[in-house]
Amino acid sequence: MKLIIIGAGPGGYETAAEAAARGIEVVLISDGPLGGTCLNEGCIPTKALCAMDAPDQERKHAVVEQLTGGINQLMRNPLITVVQGVASLGCGHCVDVRADDGSTLHFDADAIIIATGSVSASLPIPGAEKALDSSAMLELSEVPERLCVIGGGVIGLEFASIYRKFGSEVTVLEFCPNILPRFDVDLAKRLKASLVKRGIKIETSARVTAIEDGAVRWSKSDKEFETAADCILMAVGRRPNLASLNLDEAGIEYTPRGIVVDENMQTNRPGIYAVGDITGGMMLAHVASAQGRKALAHIIGEACLIDMSVVPAAVFTVPEAATVGLTEEECAGRDISVGKANYRANGKAVASGEADGWCKVIADKATGKIIGAHILGAHSSDLIHEAAVLIALGATAGQAGDIIHAHPTLSEVLLAAVRGV
Ligand code: NAD
Repeated sequence: MKLIIIGAGPGGYETAAEAAARGIEVVLISDGPLGGTCLNEGCIPTKALCAMDAPDQERKHAVVEQLTGGINQLMRNPLITVVQGVASLGCGHCVDVRADDGSTLHFDADAIIIATGSVSASLPIPGAEKALDSSAMLELSEVPERLCVIGGGVIGLEFASIYRKFGSEVTVLEFCPNILPRFDVDLAKRLKASLVKRGIKIETSARVTAIEDGAVRWSKSDKEFETAADCILMAVGRRPNLASLNLDEAGIEYTPRGIVVDENMQTNRPGIYAVGDITGGMMLAHVASAQGRKALAHIIGEACLIDMSVVPAAVFTVPEAATVGLTEEECAGRDISVGKANYRANGKAVASGEADGWCKVIADKATGKIIGAHILGAHSSDLIHEAAVLIALGATAGQAGDIIHAHPTLSEVLLAAVRGV
C-alpha cells in the first residue's frame, strides 16, 4: 500500500512513522521544516522560552534543532520518502509537488492524508500589519519595555506570561468578557486574577479598532482608549492553511473553518483524509496526532478506539492552567456535583512555594462518573492526565476517591477535589 501525506507537523510526521512501521510506503510532502508549527514556531520554542529568565535565541534554536534532528532520524526509513515542496491535489489520488528547485513532481497513492496545519489570523483593522504574529514574536532577542497583546487566548496569555517574567510591562486586550473564552469560566477567572497579581494588565470586553505607531486603540462600553506599546502581538486565533491545495478543482468540501471530514477523518472524497488544524477543530498538536492515527486505522481497515471527546489541554502561563472534559458551562441543564480543592491546603505545594492554585472536578450526579476537571497551578499540565484517564475509563468520583495517592504530592489536590464531589 502507498500513502501520500501532505504536511510534516505532528499530524503528518507521526502518521508517516506509524504507517511505515506497518509496512506502508509513504511519501511525506512538506513546504517547511519537519516538525511543522509545533516544533519550529509553536509549542516547543515557546516552552523553551518559558524555562528562561531572558530570551536566549541560541538555547531556543538548540532545543528545536535537537528535536528536529530526532524527527529527521525517524523519517530516515526506507519506506518513507520526504519531498520538499508545495503540494496540490489532482484527480483521483494524485498529488503534484512544486519542488523548491522549480521542478514539478507527480505522485499517486492508494490514499492521501492532508495535514497542512494553520496560519496566524489577523484583524481587518488599520495598522494590523504593524503587529507581530506568534512566529515573529519567538524571534525577538530584545525584551520590549511595553508589550500589548491583542487576544487573551492561549497564545496571547502564554506570551504575556513569558514577557512579564522577562520584565516587560504587559497589557492584554481580550474581545470577550472572559479570557480563554472556551475554557471553564471559574478557571479563566482564577487565572486572570493570578496573572493580574503578577502584574499583567488584562482588559476584557475590549474591541481593538486600530494599531498606530507605538499604540493600540481600543474601545470598551463606548469609551475610547489607547495603550502605548513598543511591541504588539496579534494573537486572535489561527485559520486553516487551505492555500495551494487546489481543493476546489479536486472537489474536496471545505468551509473557511477548514476541510470537512467524517468521524474517520475522511473527506467527501473516499481515500482522501484530513487531520489536525486544517480540519478547524481543536487546534492542538496531540489532537492532530490522534486524528492521524484515526485516519490511518481507517485506511488499513482497523478499528480505532481513541475517544476524541477526552482531550486534555494545557496553557503554559504562570501559573499553568489545564483542562479536560466538560466545563461547568457545558453542563448547563445537567444534574452535576462539583468538588473543589486549593493548592494552599496541599503540603507539597506550600513547601515548594507553589501554593497559588486550585482544582475543580465535575461529576454526573446520576451516574457519579467524572466528566470534567480543571486545574490551575504548578504542574497542572501534567496533573490533568490523571483526570483524563479517570474520565476515559468511566471512573466514578467514589472510585477515584478510593485510589491511594502518595503524600506529599500535588496529585493530592486532585484527590481532594474528587473527594469533595
Ligand atoms: P484562541 O482562539 O485560543 O484565542 C484567541 C483569542 O483572541 C480569543 O480569546 C478571542 O476571543 C480573542 N479575540 C478574537 N478577536 C479579537 C479582537 N478583535 N480583539 C481582541 N481579542 C480578540 O487562539 P490563539 O491564542 O491565537 O491560538 C490559536 C490556536 O492555537 C488555538 O486553537 C490554541 O488552542 C492553539 N494553541 C494551543 C497551545 C497550547 O495547547 N498550549 C498553545 C498555543 C496555541
